[in-house]
Amino acid sequence: MVCLKAAPNPGTAFFFMFVPYIKRMIQDLGKFISRNFALHSRIHLLNDNQGIDRFYIKRDDELSSGITGTKYRKYASLILFLLENKFDEVVIIGSAQSNNVIAALQLLNENQIKARPFLLESNETELKGNLLWMNLLHDMNEVTWISRNEWENVDDIAQKYKEDQNKSGKNIFIFPEGGLTIEAIPGAMTLAYDIEENEKEKGLFFDHICIDSGSGTQAIGLLLGMRLLKKTCDVHITLIAGTETEFMDIYTVMTSLFEDYTGIKLPIETSFNIHFYKPVISPSFGSITTTVLTELKSIARNEGILMDPVYSVKHLMTAKQYITSQGLKGNILFIYSGGSFGLSGFQGMLGKLS
Ligand SMILES: *Cc1c(COP(=O)(O)O)cnc(C)c1O
Repeated sequence: MVCLKAAPNPGTAFFFMFVPYIKRMIQDLGKFISRNFALHSRIHLLNDNQGIDRFYIKRDDELSSGITGTKYRKYASLILFLLENKFDEVVIIGSAQSNNVIAALQLLNENQIKARPFLLESNETELKGNLLWMNLLHDMNEVTWISRNEWENVDDIAQKYKEDQNKSGKNIFIFPEGGLTIEAIPGAMTLAYDIEENEKEKGLFFDHICIDSGSGTQAIGLLLGMRLLKKTCDVHITLIAGTETEFMDIYTVMTSLFEDYTGIKLPIETSFNIHFYKPVISPSFGSITTTVLTELKSIARNEGILMDPVYSVKHLMTAKQYITSQGLKGNILFIYSGGSFGLSGFQGMLGKLS
């Protein structure tokens, strides 16, 4: 991304200079990142700040109106990879309510890459939430529906499809559930560079970064980016899905894949601590209770943000809890990687909220 910043300069109308972080990002990761994505989001203070002077939220939701923040960053490298390797078709694996599938469909359509969703069969008869958006973005006759019984074999089924298509000369890329694939990691790493830019803009350093994890791709990207940048703050991870052991295993695998894929050597020493938390409410993935929705409403009233209940509301409630109970101090950054689109499946429930 070539980003120019206009600065007043007497004599000429505008004087342009390169934003330094972008130079650094281009220098480190430029080969892997599409210049066609907006990868800078703002930060601002939260109103309900738990008594902490500098409790900031990073608005990655503002990177795209229809794609949740984490997904958008991942595609910044993945789409470039798909275009450069001229795939005939991309298999996208996910549920019929997946944020990742609608993110993929938007960007694949934009870039005229053919999509083939492999979706978990849903009992929904009504078109709503992400299934409704999917229906607008894609011809649903061209979806391969996988039954609940077969779902555990979905990767094998996709692999078989790929091999069959290869025989007729077609080149297929399989996009695993949640987007956990090495080609997405450089994009996810841009978050670390962008946080550094926010720090420069505000003239501060963050002591704590709070992030959530589903497949782990975004949080792992953040950690790898921080290692390249030699950042030192603590990272707090809310596990919306998966366990700490699963996360650390994937982190190890991705670290070595990253070095093979990019040829970039990561510093071995990490100078930051990682802390893990289960959500303080409705810890099982996808479970949404009245408590979560009541909090969603309170965030909307206090902060003016319509926050995704599956990830971000739980993430914020959890962060506030550990910040208070551990008495965390200093500059804290909450990564809001969701988007208001995540509310669309919950209109019925939200309508009944008193
Ligand atoms: C997908 C998603 C996440 C988790 O991102 P991962 O990279 O899968 O860990 C967090 N928040 C929202 C809103 C998401 O859609």
